[in-house]
Amino acid sequence: MSQNVHVSNLLRCPECGNDQEFVEVSGEVITTTFYQQNPDGSFTPVDQEDEQASGQRLYCGKCEKDITALYERFAEMVF
Ligand SMILES: [Zn+2]
Repeated sequence: MSQNVHVSNLLRCPECGNDQEFVEVSGEVITTTFYQQNPDGSFTPVDQEDEQASGQRLYCGKCEKDITALYERFAEMVF
């Protein structure tokens, strides 16, 4: 096992070159619940859907450029 792992392709802000600080913003989650009314007037939830309204976004922590296009790669490298 090598101790000198060299990473040559760090995630980097294309605007300012920042490769250290990033900001992740989670979109609002919309929860939709479907109910069925019973003959006695009560309601039973039959289905529920959680939907990401705008999804995850990624911003540079220094110049605040929207770099969501790089989000997938960012997510893969979060440990
Ligand atoms: Zn930047």
